[in-house]
Amino acid sequence: MCDTDLFSSSFFPHENCGIFGVFGSDIEAARIVHSGLWALQHRGQESSGIASSEGTSIRVVKDEGLVAHVYSEELLDLLSGNIAIGHNRYGTSGGTGSLHAQPIKGQRIALAHNGNLPSTSSLKNFLTKQKYPISNMNDSEMMHAALEHIVQQGGTIQQAVRQAFPLFTGAFCLLIMTNKEIVAVRDKKGIRPLSLGKLSNAFVVSSETCALDTVGAHFVRDIRPGEMLTIDRNGIHSTQIVTGTQKLDIFEFIYFARPDSILLGKSVHEVRRKFGQTLATEVHLDVDTIIPVPDSAIPAALGYSQQSGILFDHGLVKNRYIHRTFIRPAQKLRMDDVDMKLNPVREVIAGKRVAIVDDSIVRGTTAKRLAQKLRTVGAKEVHMLISSPPVLYPDFYGIDTPSQNELIASRMDCDKIAQTIGVDSLHFLSYKGMMNAIDVDEKLLSTSCFTGKYPISLKERAKEVTHLKATY
Ligand code: AMP
Repeated sequence: MCDTDLFSSSFFPHENCGIFGVFGSDIEAARIVHSGLWALQHRGQESSGIASSEGTSIRVVKDEGLVAHVYSEELLDLLSGNIAIGHNRYGTSGGTGSLHAQPIKGQRIALAHNGNLPSTSSLKNFLTKQKYPISNMNDSEMMHAALEHIVQQGGTIQQAVRQAFPLFTGAFCLLIMTNKEIVAVRDKKGIRPLSLGKLSNAFVVSSETCALDTVGAHFVRDIRPGEMLTIDRNGIHSTQIVTGTQKLDIFEFIYFARPDSILLGKSVHEVRRKFGQTLATEVHLDVDTIIPVPDSAIPAALGYSQQSGILFDHGLVKNRYIHRTFIRPAQKLRMDDVDMKLNPVREVIAGKRVAIVDDSIVRGTTAKRLAQKLRTVGAKEVHMLISSPPVLYPDFYGIDTPSQNELIASRMDCDKIAQTIGVDSLHFLSYKGMMNAIDVDEKLLSTSCFTGKYPISLKERAKEVTHLKATY
């Protein structure tokens, strides 16, 4: 039932948040950021915020909810000025709700962070020495406090970033603004994506290139790992704070990024389509139809169908107005959320041997519920194709994956997972097949979710990881 020999090594993943910033002349920067945040909504649906400045003070509007809910025309009018940064939050560490919405604003700077710091011990030590009350602060708030502290002591924002950078242990893309500049910073491994774009009279920085397209900016280049890029009225100035080594989180390709974005020069849609094509060369199924779990698995299902010649059909309809299935706290609630989010089309499924394609299995909640639903509407057989290898290791860099013992593949082999989720067969894309499909040097990627190799030290959290024998 399971193609265990396809897995040449061990594996797994998770992540979150979207950031977008603009500096220009004669522009309404906040309105451009607002459009950028719409395009980055998939990276976080919990809260959204924009900070802007016209050269004197910094104003912030932020609240719980989607971009569509948070901003009114009146609020956008308040956000005047030619400098703005914005953030969509996908709550991970540090709690949920409007309390932790970003950008975080102090007296001198506002900050938006994408990523997560597994270790905050150095930051905590630094802030405790400065007598900051850190007990209720999350990692982003501590980063902001450290930078704000140094600026208030008389440092420039660039000096503050240089000084605080060694305190930040983990994955971070930061957009920091004062009332006269924006500073973009990426951690030394470039775990999360961050790209620079250009409008005729402005520079734009975005988590993903899809948002550059949306605002009409052209792609200039990615912010480099370990780089600090300042954008001010004199243009852009780059400083390499530390030597960086690119290790983009592979889960951006698998699940997180929008298919119309470009990562490491590769179209996310094309990579996902190749995942499906490769899977079809590894796994031959005798089924009537290939059904994607919308939206993230659509390109892979298309690729599988194109390679195998098996009919592709939309047998699951997604309610696009339901959000955040994955991170609801109780398993029961997640179950309900799958029902709310995905519904089978009886006419496509009834009487057929069906293969569902999904991009990943994490806890197994989605796959299990979908298998039940497809049988309820009369599927003769239900097979499951996963366009990535088994997720064996937890994420610490900003995707919201659960602890390792909640990852179904870290506890069970493929046959047992298939039995548990109730499918006739289950097949994962091999690690090698995934790498061939991405077609960039493996060294450029962080594969921690599949391999347990974490490119940035987990420090005190390393004890949360059990290294498994390669069981697949
Ligand atoms: P699960 O239901 O726990 O097995 O999770 C797998 C499902 O969640 C798949 O449909 C994925 O598309 C989706 N998924 C994978 N990673 C994430 C993530 N970091 N955040 C939200 N959803 C995810």
